Amino acid sequence: MRTIVQKFGGTSVADVDKIRACAQRAIATRKSLESKGKPGGVIVVTSAMGKSTDLLVKMAAEANAHPPRREMDALLSTGERVTVALMAMVLEALGAPAVSFAARQVGIQTDADFTRARITAIDTAVLTEHLAAGRICVVAGFQGISPTGDITTLGRGGSDTTAVALAAALAAESCEIYTDVDGVYTADPRDVPTARKLDRITYEEMLELAALGAGVLHPRAVQFGAKYNVPIHVRHAHLPDEGTLITDKKDDQMEEVQVAGVALKENLGRVSLQSIPDVPGVASRVFAALAETGILVDDIIQTEGNDKLATISFTVEQADLSEIKPAIAKILADIGGGTERIDTGFAKVSVVGVGIRSHAALAALLFRTLADAQINIANITTSEIKVCAIIAQDDGKKAVKLVHDAFDLDKD
Ligand code: ASP
Ligand code: MG
Repeated sequence: MRTIVQKFGGTSVADVDKIRACAQRAIATRKSLESKGKPGGVIVVTSAMGKSTDLLVKMAAEANAHPPRREMDALLSTGERVTVALMAMVLEALGAPAVSFAARQVGIQTDADFTRARITAIDTAVLTEHLAAGRICVVAGFQGISPTGDITTLGRGGSDTTAVALAAALAAESCEIYTDVDGVYTADPRDVPTARKLDRITYEEMLELAALGAGVLHPRAVQFGAKYNVPIHVRHAHLPDEGTLITDKKDDQMEEVQVAGVALKENLGRVSLQSIPDVPGVASRVFAALAETGILVDDIIQTEGNDKLATISFTVEQADLSEIKPAIAKILADIGGGTERIDTGFAKVSVVGVGIRSHAALAALLFRTLADAQINIANITTSEIKVCAIIAQDDGKKAVKLVHDAFDLDKD
């Protein structure tokens, strides 16, 4: 059976009429699969309607300043369950047999890391059975079941990951992500009006852009896509545009493209551990302790000072600072000294492209562009296919526009 997974994001299913439009697309897709001869199966994955997850987060904050993470997931997972039931009802009303599922019913297993759980296994038996019986299967995105049977969620935006993971598990032909933008752009069009839509992008470029705050796709979704080679097709839910295809294929045209895009990530805090012992094992202990908190740390830099003392600094999302502070105090006590310094108000502007691997001039162009605009760089980090500069948040929006221009990303 040829299977296609279609994921519809929150804005695309914000009311019942919009759900109906998405349902029609799913029905049309199934018909076109069938018209090609072999039986075709469509799995629909949905997000919660509109801003309903935000609303639940707000109510949780009213209930408890520090809501237990287990209860947070019990609450947030309800949003998606509303959409899937409505979607199945609408599909049935349109004459298409359909059945909705919560994570438990289709065996989406995760670890027990509430509010940011990772999918560990998917049991496809139930879905395959219903697909074979000609039903459209509508699966709640964003949620899973922990080893002890608790409801977990995959982190905000996690429905994308559910969709791609299902596509991988079912060896689907492709995973279509329907959203409120018509594809992946060279920059966020809200920040850079001259940003251009990309027809294709590689997984590794998309991964960097997603992780760097391009905001179109959940990074874990791209990781799943890359690992299991699931073509991911990002498209507008209510427009006919072709969108952007994310694959590992590099056609001739892609080979020439050196830089895919520029991303801006805002609201970063920088943590510096100063005057810490400069002896083997310190970094290992620091980052092992940080890993235990589950908080994502990035842009790690270590500098050596005098007197066998060193400084380690890294960035985290500003929202994670309150959770990281107690961990830092413990770490400093454990490694035998040092002081902490926390600064806020940073942004990261990053240039991403497979060409960066072989063209050092691309990094130089980023730094020159920022210098010409008198923008100070607080930190620099690089990887194979990206160069990033940490700058003041106030300069962020201006910087991303200037860099986009300097790299001629508005030109085809
Ligand atoms: N409803 C969840 C959120 O708003 C998951 C998702 O939309 O992907 O983050
Ligand atoms: Mg979403």
